[in-house]
Amino acid sequence: MRAVRFHGQGRPVAVEEVDEPRPGPGDVLIDVAAAGICGTELHFLDGLLTPARTPITLGHEVAGVVAEVGAEVAGVAAGDRVAVHYLHACHRCRPCRAGNDHLCDQPLGFLAFVTDGGFADRIAVPASAVVPVPEEVDLPVAATLCCSATTALHAVDVAGVRPGDAAVVYGTGGVGLAMVQVLREAGARPIAVARNPERLALARELGAEVTVDGTGDVAAGVRAATDGVGADVVFELVGSRETGAAALASLGKRGTLVYVGYSFDTVEVSPLSLVVPEQRIVTSVGNRRSELVAALDLAARGRLRTPITEHPLEEAPRALEDLRAGRVLGRAVLRP
Ligand SMILES: [Zn+2]
Ligand SMILES: [Zn+2]
Repeated sequence: MRAVRFHGQGRPVAVEEVDEPRPGPGDVLIDVAAAGICGTELHFLDGLLTPARTPITLGHEVAGVVAEVGAEVAGVAAGDRVAVHYLHACHRCRPCRAGNDHLCDQPLGFLAFVTDGGFADRIAVPASAVVPVPEEVDLPVAATLCCSATTALHAVDVAGVRPGDAAVVYGTGGVGLAMVQVLREAGARPIAVARNPERLALARELGAEVTVDGTGDVAAGVRAATDGVGADVVFELVGSRETGAAALASLGKRGTLVYVGYSFDTVEVSPLSLVVPEQRIVTSVGNRRSELVAALDLAARGRLRTPITEHPLEEAPRALEDLRAGRVLGRAVLRP
């Protein structure tokens, strides 16, 4: 079968012929219908993140149809439409038992980080990692929800967003556009920041109350949008030195800065400037399996729209370049 293989930083990503995976007794084999292309892929290419081994198949946002199930699998059958939770939690360790399966100590698998991902014709994963896709949701949409809306739902939970909160979404890629909609669902007032006017227009269409041009003075724009008070929450989806400083300057008293995005940059923080207005900095990583269930449910009820661009598997290198160049509006998916 075909798979998009990553051989290490600085080496070209290529579609290659690899052996088809065989499902173990507790696994399901899935015919991949679509796999979303995420900013995390670029972090691998750039060497900011390093997978546990190379070569490895990229792609951690996967949906498809079950082709075969292992002998011990119950509750999932051939023909089922499923989405895959990228971190295959053990459901036994301390974080798992506390409900934080996204921080599992001993995952059974971790797509594209430890085990082969979904930029391939087929993938084998533990049956406990799959979630049924409601019939109202197309499989390419389901694939993108595995990381965009689920990551947004998790970050909104971490931040403790309340109805009426002014919440800045700093960066409007796949996660940001989903976050605007998740915030609107939570009764908050989303303020979207981006450098690209097309993205700002899309953010407005999807529910942003205000948009702020990221090429200008972002903090001044946020203050203008909040009667001078500043934001209750800022979701930092970019993670650069420049955006970190602007995000902090946008916060109001008791405001919360939530780091979701990261880069090679470091950010300088003055404790004094945080202490006096009693502001908090927190972080949010990935998402829980239950948040994937919630995202699929939101999409099935028509509360979550994901603009999608589809590419055949062979176009993976070009699609990754499009993402890097900021040419993707919403999410790009590969369709094997
Ligand atoms: Zn992702
Ligand atoms: Zn665990």
